[in-house]
Amino acid sequence: MTVETQKETLGFETEVKQLLHLMIHSLYSNKEIFLRELISNASDAADKLRFEALSNDALYEGDSDLKIRVEFDKDKRTITVKDNGIGMNREEVQENIGTIAKSGTRQFFEALTGDEAKDSELIGQFGVGFYSSFIVADKVTLTTRKAGGADPSQGVRWESNGEGDYTLENVEKPTHGTEVVLHLREGEDEFLDGFRLRSIIKKFSDHISIPIVMDKEHYGEEKEEEKTEPEEETVNSASALWAKSKQEIDEEAYHEFYKHVAHDFQDPLAYVHSRVEGTNEYTLLLYVPSHAPFDLWDRDAKHGVKLYVRKVFITDDADQLMPRYLRFIRGVIDSDSLPLNISREMLQQNKLIETIRGGAVKKVLGLLEDIAKKEPEKYQTFWNEFGKVIKEGPIEDYANRERIAKLLRFSSTHTDSEKQEVSLQDYIDRMPEGQEKIYYITADSFSAAKNSPHLEIFRKKGIEVLLLSDRVDEWLTTHLTEFDGKPLQSVAKGELDLGKLADKEDKESQEKVAKEYQEMVEKIKKILGDKVSEVRVSNRLTESPACLVSENFGMSLNMERIMNEVGQPLPGATKPIFEINPDHPLVSRLKEESDDQRFDDLTQVLFDQAVLSEGGQLDDPAGFVHKLNGLLQGVLN
Ligand code: ADP
Repeated sequence: MTVETQKETLGFETEVKQLLHLMIHSLYSNKEIFLRELISNASDAADKLRFEALSNDALYEGDSDLKIRVEFDKDKRTITVKDNGIGMNREEVQENIGTIAKSGTRQFFEALTGDEAKDSELIGQFGVGFYSSFIVADKVTLTTRKAGGADPSQGVRWESNGEGDYTLENVEKPTHGTEVVLHLREGEDEFLDGFRLRSIIKKFSDHISIPIVMDKEHYGEEKEEEKTEPEEETVNSASALWAKSKQEIDEEAYHEFYKHVAHDFQDPLAYVHSRVEGTNEYTLLLYVPSHAPFDLWDRDAKHGVKLYVRKVFITDDADQLMPRYLRFIRGVIDSDSLPLNISREMLQQNKLIETIRGGAVKKVLGLLEDIAKKEPEKYQTFWNEFGKVIKEGPIEDYANRERIAKLLRFSSTHTDSEKQEVSLQDYIDRMPEGQEKIYYITADSFSAAKNSPHLEIFRKKGIEVLLLSDRVDEWLTTHLTEFDGKPLQSVAKGELDLGKLADKEDKESQEKVAKEYQEMVEKIKKILGDKVSEVRVSNRLTESPACLVSENFGMSLNMERIMNEVGQPLPGATKPIFEINPDHPLVSRLKEESDDQRFDDLTQVLFDQAVLSEGGQLDDPAGFVHKLNGLLQGVLN
């Protein structure tokens, strides 16, 4: 007997234990979903076999009649779900069922709070699949054999009570595929009922494209007489949902199909179902989820769109089908034109795939435009979940930049609300006559943006400024430099240029003041030395004594900070320009200061304050406090 065939007992990863516990508690009110999850896995396994058999017919082992069988046994109190799909070998069972082989699992567990109500919501985002069996079962036995070997001794049995460990052993299994037996918990006998099981299948799994069969049942007198061989009947409609016409599909069926393809527990937010005719024909059924998946920010997360060719599943890992900024889209694209034997490598540079992707992106953008227009509240939900991802759009998808730009939403000084709800079009519609630019500020938090000294002159003049505080905004604004012919301008960069909004008198008096302060500016420059690239009199401040500005085409201070944080500091980072507000009492007082030491201290304090209000970090915080206290004491004395 080799090690392989021995029965071994293995411990679940701690995470699996935690997951099981959480799931059993949080999904209890929705327990019938276990059947949907098992059927969904069985259907995926059949899809995989069908695809692999395209190039190797022998995998079918003579049984190409793919189906899923659901059985129940009142005496043994078991429910069984069987498939003749791809099956698993020993390593695969251990990998797939004993561990959670999902990218982002660690982040998911980190996100858990310990508060059961909150965590229950998270579990929906995670998707629990196979483990949902333990909601109703206190023992689960999975027996499987990989298709193709035609060797009954290659079967593997996995068994667990869902508590601490599971056993793995090699067993005889004549047919390929997987069989999952649920030994029901006390009190779950309601599921030992053909009618109940049928209605669950109809409700959740009607759209599964292969037959789900059960034994026909006979009721009443008939039952007594008929003791003949059981007869199978198909319970679901067993046709690819997306291939049906829209009129044939009701909302609920669309939603259930979504839950199957997306492994999600909640209803989708919206969907688009469309058939594209022409030389390159395809059907798409694409969904926008109602919440972001837990692995939205995981670079290795799988893409969500499944590729079929004439109803045969090809892959669920075709990241060519959707650009990254639409990576949250789930669903199916079924092509009539691609060859059935297309490989993953071929997908990479396939012209047809490129056109399909182009078309699919347009459909999704169209769907989002539609929601934005007709259902603003729903759009807001969408934006809260996926806005940050959509903001990658103008960077990644140059061709659709204008369309995507219209979908963007921001916070702005118009409402001063953290809710991102202002579109660029709203902004332009509100622009007063004479305003030529779209003004924005970037900062590392909403409140830093909202309270930035750079906004003072804009608030005074009643000019709206977009408040950007998502990290991606820095990249967005370097790529989206104009909208509808209006340039986007950072209020924290370069010389303040209000264009036609500036008053003529303002300009003249500013020049005069600049002259008056010439000498002081030189003195400050000497004190600050190479901390700054320039010192000048500001015309953007009304309340603060000073602020920092970056070069017009240089990197913003916020961007520099982000680059430092992500460990990519920029060599020779640009030095800021230090602007002082001549109308501020502190500054006018400084101008009159004759004591060199005090002038020096006050200058340093003003500079450090400006760094702080940018959300920056001081080189010498203790020195700042020391100087500030010295000055305060002077006031008190
Ligand atoms: P998910 O389906 O979301 O990946 P599950 O926990 O339901 O998560 O399943 C984990 C993995 O186990 C699946 O991805 C698949 O590889 C494998 N698996 C589950 N059920 C079956 C089955 N009936 N046949 C073949 N493989 C299966």
